[in-house]
Amino acid sequence: MVGIGPGDAEHMTQRAQSVWKEVDVVAGYKTYIDLIRPWLAEKKVVATGMRQEIDRCREVVEIALEGQAIALVSSGDAGVYGMAGILIECLEEKDALDIPLEIIPGVSAANAASSLLGAPLMHDFAVISLSDLLTPWEVIQKRVKLAAEGDFVMAIYNPKSKGRQDQIEWVRQAVLEYRDPQTPVGIVKEALRGDSQVIITTLAEFTQSPIDMLTTVIIGNSHTRVVGPYMVTPRGYVL
Ligand code: SAH
Repeated sequence: MVGIGPGDAEHMTQRAQSVWKEVDVVAGYKTYIDLIRPWLAEKKVVATGMRQEIDRCREVVEIALEGQAIALVSSGDAGVYGMAGILIECLEEKDALDIPLEIIPGVSAANAASSLLGAPLMHDFAVISLSDLLTPWEVIQKRVKLAAEGDFVMAIYNPKSKGRQDQIEWVRQAVLEYRDPQTPVGIVKEALRGDSQVIITTLAEFTQSPIDMLTTVIIGNSHTRVVGPYMVTPRGYVL
């Protein structure tokens, strides 16, 4: 199970870059396979579309049961809204938990976005996905409200998709119940993947900026401030 990081080769771990040599087959969502294509040479590739996660994992387990070494690719960190969990559950389903499994960590979108913004995640933070494909919207709403009340910095994954445009506006209004409208908000699109786009704006206005499914939104806590070109959440040091 390989987390390949946000996209650029420099931000993939050395272990992820070397593992391709050790496997017979590489599997994953086509977009991610394309990001690592330069390493794969003549390797056998099983590329699939989105929303076929279960089929993909079952196929990976079948191939592993045949005795082949297979790498399943996930973007960012495979254990953060990635494929690591469902892969282990598929191993369990096929009574194949004795197959050796290596999980290679990757730089997650929150880390990549944070590094481009400055230091917004310096204090306690909550990672929340707005995707309601597998999680009821009411549960997501509850978590956003509680994170806002708890003054957590929030890293929002899956902020918008084609069919899901309005949830981020609901988030803005929910967080405004607890935080100042001038609270800094960072919006990072395609972090560390080609040409990243970085915007620092405010809680009052951030939904007017372009946001899509390749974007991570970081909402500051009550202490977060803009320092020159950076967004910083002070840890509490006194200068
Ligand atoms: N496993 C991945 C997350 C998958 S969920 C990880 O650890 O990063 C997909 C969401 O991640 C996207 O909707 C977006 O919010 C975020 N994301 C993934 N790659 C990104 C990137 N390069 N820049 C900004 N956000 C990204």
